Amino acid sequence: MRIAVVSDIHANLVALEAVLKHAGDVDGVWCMGDSVGYGPQPGECVARLRDAGALWVAGNHERAATGAIGVEEFNSSAAAAALWTRGQLSHDDKTHLDALPETVVEGDFTLVHGTLRWPIWEYLVDEESALGHLALQQTPFGFVGHTHVPAIVTEMSDSPQGCDMRRLRDGETVTLDSQARLVLNPGGVGQPRDGDKRASYAVLDTSAGTFTLHRVEYEIAITQGLMEDAGLPARLIERLAIGR
Ligand code: ZN
Repeated sequence: MRIAVVSDIHANLVALEAVLKHAGDVDGVWCMGDSVGYGPQPGECVARLRDAGALWVAGNHERAATGAIGVEEFNSSAAAAALWTRGQLSHDDKTHLDALPETVVEGDFTLVHGTLRWPIWEYLVDEESALGHLALQQTPFGFVGHTHVPAIVTEMSDSPQGCDMRRLRDGETVTLDSQARLVLNPGGVGQPRDGDKRASYAVLDTSAGTFTLHRVEYEIAITQGLMEDAGLPARLIERLAIGR
């Protein structure tokens, strides 16, 4: 099976379509949450993922978009975008988003937005959070999102620090070797934060046992124009062009 592994689409349909086109024929789409929030096309992104029959876990932005959680934990521009998003989504979309689980186990893979310790909120950004997550991961491989930075964590039970964590580069292929447990983050489709403005996602090939990271150009100006039309915060519009 070839699976497009996506996360943090953030209502950026232009980026999502670019990624799905790049992936080509796939047998499925797996999404680690934050399909909405920040961007201008939340309903369209939810519809696209529903049409694709995506295997999908909730992020903090899905929860805020339905009102399941408040926006107190968000910074001011994220809160403004979340409240705008609430007004855009249909009742049916909100019902679908509210029904998304926080974690999913599919074969050898566990999907969660943040970490298994704190599924929709914790950033897996250092050894401490990685080890906290790995202690709860029951499968050889874990897929996370939330940081918008493509990364790999390799468990190293014999070493003092317990794991190794590093970023993934465009085109890099990770061999899924069940000797070492891994946590993989495909980066953000709709709002990358590693200084590379291109959309980030990965292709999982379960027969070959590989996970390949890809960066894909998309028409950032189209998304920015739609954000301006919607009156979304300038800070959110500008950051797309710098990948931060
Ligand atoms: Zn996000």
